[in-house]
Amino acid sequence: MADLFSKEQLKELQEISQLKGDEQSKKFNEFLKKCSPEQVEYLRKQYGGSECPFCLIKEGKLKSEILYQDENVMVIFDINPASKGHMLVIPLNHESSITNSKDYGKIMDVVQRVAKVVFDVLKVEGVNILIGDGVTAGQKVAHGYVHVIPRSEDDKVKINWEKLNVKEKDLQELSKLIKEKLKVVKKLEVKPVKVIKELEEFKFKERIP
Ligand SMILES: [Zn+2]
Repeated sequence: MADLFSKEQLKELQEISQLKGDEQSKKFNEFLKKCSPEQVEYLRKQYGGSECPFCLIKEGKLKSEILYQDENVMVIFDINPASKGHMLVIPLNHESSITNSKDYGKIMDVVQRVAKVVFDVLKVEGVNILIGDGVTAGQKVAHGYVHVIPRSEDDKVKINWEKLNVKEKDLQELSKLIKEKLKVVKKLEVKPVKVIKELEEFKFKERIP
């Protein structure tokens, strides 16, 4: 436990353990929000005794309609769907981060197939593919997963944000760091684009990402 949590976190946990009733659960829930998925899983096992629901489904111990399964990935319906046909693509390996998964390519191949099926079967106008990597990003289970959410004009799904103004100077600094990490080997060739008048006048409706 000592290597999973920082000294400050251990101190906070110690303080929480001395609180009583509602105050304790309130503070503990606030603490959980700041934890990584691994930490949340550890604490849940320690204090709540709950096991990973996706692993239970994989092992057949928890009932769920498995829509697809191969040696790396399974697909199920989300039990809290945002829209009809909202599915989760889940790696069979218990790992918290999709973006760090060694099976990332295989997972995304299935995501692409599922998204195509959504268009074909549900006849919707759009699909959102959503990964929440980390509790802050909305990840609810410490076993990574990808949402495939069918979208139609009149649905009630909201994925939105307010535009943030980022200083040009900050962007340039960030750009340097990112390029360094991504190791750009070849500059993209930018060809001059002929601007079509109608396109200039074309205005997007309010963006729903
Ligand atoms: Zn799991």
